Amino acid sequence: ETFESLGVQEMLVSHLKDKMRIQKPTSIQKLVFSHMLLSGKSADGDLFINAQTGSGKTLAYLLPIVSRILRMNVRVDRKSGCFALIVAPTRELASQIYSVASMLTNCCHYLVPCLLIGGERKKSEKARLRKGCNFIIGTPGRILDHLQNTKVIREQLSHSLRYFVMDEGDKLMELGFEETIRDILNIIHEVPVNTERFPQLPTRIVHILCSATMQNGA
Ligand code: AMP
Repeated sequence: ETFESLGVQEMLVSHLKDKMRIQKPTSIQKLVFSHMLLSGKSADGDLFINAQTGSGKTLAYLLPIVSRILRMNVRVDRKSGCFALIVAPTRELASQIYSVASMLTNCCHYLVPCLLIGGERKKSEKARLRKGCNFIIGTPGRILDHLQNTKVIREQLSHSLRYFVMDEGDKLMELGFEETIRDILNIIHEVPVNTERFPQLPTRIVHILCSATMQNGA
């Protein structure tokens, strides 16, 4: 199986090969693509990804999300709204995911990821959110902080958000982020998904949980 045969959008496949030197999907990617890039309703079910860091799990969920956005064949840019919110337990992992997302979206400069990890960067994070972004990647506390205190972020999520990813979910729980995540989920589920905007995307928020140690995953 190839990226093409699994339904990854053509521009992304060329970009992977030419710019990222990634030739063929890893086994976890094949599995995830076959769920998320299916046609029909089953592509929009929640997903548990049981995979270690190093297995290609980041692209396993990012590629289908970006593929679906590009396949819509409608003009999107940073002002179109945020399509995916990705939560990671540490700044390091969030930065790593962000750098993969940045490399990937290099193929289509109108798609913009944004990193929210706190520290001294709150002002610049706010400025970036105000300019608009299509993917938010960050640590739970800082994401919740912005959801509660940066008005513009809610507007950006309200019509477009279709994916909520918890990366290293086991570690998120271990570090005691359960309640913060519940608060984040409550906020993002406050607004019903506007299915008239981006009707080709999932009609609900798809939850994706990645974990290296949880057993019996689907
Ligand atoms: P991850 O498991 O997401 O932390 O990815 C680990 C590394 O594998 C990252 O540097 C990716 O760029 C790289 N990678 C992801 N998918 C592939 C692939 N299909 N072939 C080769 N390398 C990959």
